[in-house]
Amino acid sequence: MSNYRPETICVQGGYTPGNGEPRQIPIIQSTTFKYATSEDMGRLFDLEASGYFYSRLQNPTCDAVAAKICALEGGTAAMLTSSGQAANFFALFNIASCGDHIVASSSIYGGTFNLISVTMAKMGIETTFVSPDCTEEELNAAFRPNTRAVFGETIANPALTVLDIEKFARAAHGHGVPLIVDNTFATPVGCRPFQWGADIVTHSTTKYMDGHGAAVGGAIVDSGRFDWMAHADKFPGLCTPDESYHGITYAEKFGKEGAFITKCTAQLMRDFGCTQSPQSAFYLNLGLESLHVRMARHCENGQAVAEFLAQHPEVETVHYCGLPEDPYHTLAQKYLPNGSCGVVSFELKGGRPAAERFMSRLKLAAIETHVADARTCCLNPATSTHRQMSEEQLAAAGIPAGLIRMSCGLESKEDLIEDIRQALEGA
Ligand SMILES: *Cc1c(COP(=O)(O)O)cnc(C)c1O
Repeated sequence: MSNYRPETICVQGGYTPGNGEPRQIPIIQSTTFKYATSEDMGRLFDLEASGYFYSRLQNPTCDAVAAKICALEGGTAAMLTSSGQAANFFALFNIASCGDHIVASSSIYGGTFNLISVTMAKMGIETTFVSPDCTEEELNAAFRPNTRAVFGETIANPALTVLDIEKFARAAHGHGVPLIVDNTFATPVGCRPFQWGADIVTHSTTKYMDGHGAAVGGAIVDSGRFDWMAHADKFPGLCTPDESYHGITYAEKFGKEGAFITKCTAQLMRDFGCTQSPQSAFYLNLGLESLHVRMARHCENGQAVAEFLAQHPEVETVHYCGLPEDPYHTLAQKYLPNGSCGVVSFELKGGRPAAERFMSRLKLAAIETHVADARTCCLNPATSTHRQMSEEQLAAAGIPAGLIRMSCGLESKEDLIEDIRQALEGA
């Protein structure tokens, strides 16, 4: 399937029915699977045979949808998780443990910021945040001997900065660690981070991939290119025997292509159990079937709304990398040549009170803690998703208190602009 173009993979990837089998991916709503002998079952437990035994570890519906996302990203292995938060936690925790260190872009989703700066810090994993716009020297200076991963978002939620993936990949590889990129906002239709040197990609599938606000979920994809064994001292979890699997060494037994996802499934999913349900995976797959068609419209609407806002006298600033004057326009032309996404951030001249007035007057755009939905929605991040951040942290993440994040849906762009106009002008 990965030889086909993204449009074809969106529709048909991950699942090829045999003769007389269902055309649509079957929902295998079963916790468990039957075997003829205990020995058959034992081989599965030992990772000596592939197959299903318990849906906390693997389920055929979830695996088919993971395989589609894997093909879309051009990876070698992938898994679904219960949420985007679980995907980012697993991706990092799979290679970093107590006493280790992470380098992360400061311009990231508020939930991920909390995860790594508070919760993972309590687990003994420290993070150094760097501006996505830092120089290579500043970036290199953030590394320590115990650094295990570099993390950033292709298009950051909600600051809408664009990550210079090649710059971050160069620094990561120069220090013998992988670059993990959260590709949620761009989706593989807009950008395939592996092309630019990223090693692991994560997703909140809750956003554009699902696209209809129907199911919370996440995904992790491995490029299969990072050579764990070449840096075995840094990654003992992958490069030394796992006693909980009879001494298997993941990087030896499953190679570069399979070690990361196999360990993540066999250890982290086994122990933490953040599985996506087969029913949710089915909804996710319905979303993926039209991802390529929807993304083009989200981008068209985002661009039209950004252009309208940019010329409106009540608007102070607009952040959208599709605007030629945006500081990330040049990076976007390189990494996102087909358009970025439907999310536009902006500030009104009247600051936070004006933002609140404006949002309450909107008729089509609902106030929601959500983005990347078929229905247009908006939010003031400082009072919602990024509420836990201090003023300084908000400033570092590029999120002023009056910032409005508008996620342009799939409605008519003329109607959206009319709605925004009446809300701005108080009609
Ligand atoms: C929403 C989001 C997450 C978290 O995903 P959930 O599915 O809500 O857990 C992570 N990263 C980005 C970029 C997001 O937008």
